[in-house]
Amino acid sequence: MAEILIKSVAKSFGAYTALHDINLTITDQEFMVLLGASGCGKTTLLRIIAGLETASTGEVWIGGRRVDNLPPKDRGIAMVFQNYAVFPHLTVFENIAFGLRMKKVPDSEIKRRVERTATLMHIEKLLKRYSGELSGGQRQRVAVARALAMEPDVILMDEPLSNLDALLRLEMRAELKGVLAESKTTAIYVTHDQVEAMSLADRISVMHQGRIVQAASPIQVYRNPAAEFVAGFIGNPPMNFLPAEPVGSGRWRVAGSELTGPMHSNPLKFAIRPEDVRPGETGFGATARIVEPLGAHLLVTCDVDGSMFRAVLDSDMTVRPGDRLVLQPQPDRIRWFDPATTLSVN
Ligand code: ATP
Repeated sequence: MAEILIKSVAKSFGAYTALHDINLTITDQEFMVLLGASGCGKTTLLRIIAGLETASTGEVWIGGRRVDNLPPKDRGIAMVFQNYAVFPHLTVFENIAFGLRMKKVPDSEIKRRVERTATLMHIEKLLKRYSGELSGGQRQRVAVARALAMEPDVILMDEPLSNLDALLRLEMRAELKGVLAESKTTAIYVTHDQVEAMSLADRISVMHQGRIVQAASPIQVYRNPAAEFVAGFIGNPPMNFLPAEPVGSGRWRVAGSELTGPMHSNPLKFAIRPEDVRPGETGFGATARIVEPLGAHLLVTCDVDGSMFRAVLDSDMTVRPGDRLVLQPQPDRIRWFDPATTLSVN
C-alpha cells in the first residue's frame, strides 16, 4: 500500500510563498498529475514529497509512515526528471542497474530486474550499448526503466517527456501509461502540458499560484471546472465566458438570449466550451471574424455582443469572415461562475 498524504503543506522561500496550505491524498496505485503554468509550485511540491526540499510547515505521509524527516533514499520512491541523468559512459544495463548496485542487491536479482524492466520499456536489445550512443527517446526509456527497476512503491516524475520531439512524446506517453498500470506503482507526474495530463492521469490536481484549485478526474476537470481559472486553463481553445444578468426565478439574460440557470441574485459569468454550441434557430447572434479549418473541424472566432467567442463547428460548414451565425449553447454543458469568488455555482 503506498497511499500518499499531504497535510497542510506550505513552503516559503524567504518572503515568497511558493505553496499555501496544500492538502491532497493520492490513493494506492493512483496516477496523479500535478498540472499548472510555470511557477505555480508543482516542482516544489514534488521535491517536498521526494525529500529534496523541506516543507516550511505540514506533513508528508507515504504508505502509512510519516516521512518528513527521512532522506529521499528511505522513502520508498524513485524519480525521473526532465534531464534524466543517464550516465553516458555506462551501458544501458549498468544504467538501469545503478540504484540496485547502490542498494547491494544480489547480482542474479539485478539481472532479473534489469531484463524485466528493459523488456517493459522495449529496450531489451540495447542493454550492451553505451547510453551516450542512444537517441533522446531511448535514453528517456532507460531513465524510466532505472526507476522501475527499483520496484518503488511510488514513482515521481517531473516533465519526463519534455525533451522529446512531438511524435516520440506521444508514443512514450502511451507506453508509460501502460507500464505504470501494469507495475501497480503509485505515480505523481508533473507537467504543464494539459493534453499529457488529460491522457495520463487518473486524477489531475490543477495548481495556480501555489494552491490546488481542483483535484478531480480529467473528464470532471474538463466538464465541471470548479473555478474560472480551471475553465480558462483546460481545453484548447479554452471555455468561452459571457456576462449574465439575472431576470428572476433562475432565468438569465446572456448576450440578448434568455436562458435557465442557477437561482442567484447577483450577476454571474456564463461559460460554455467551443464544441458545445451548434448553429441553430435561436441562440447567440454571432459575427464570424476568423475562420480556421483544422481538418477535423472548423474553428470560428466570433464576436458575440462585444465579446470574443469561439465555436468549433462541423468542417463541412462554409463560414466566411463577416458571416452572421446563430449559436445555440447545449443546455447541459453550460457552467456558471460567480465573479465575486471565481468559483462555479453549478
Ligand atoms: P516550472 O514549470 O517552470 O518548473 P513550477 O510550477 O514547477 O514551474 P516551482 O519550480 O515549484 O514551479 O516554483 C514555484 C515558485 O517558487 C517559483 O516562483 C520559483 O521561482 C520559486 N522557487 C522555487 N525554488 C526556489 C528557490 N530555491 N529559491 C527561491 N525561490 C524558489
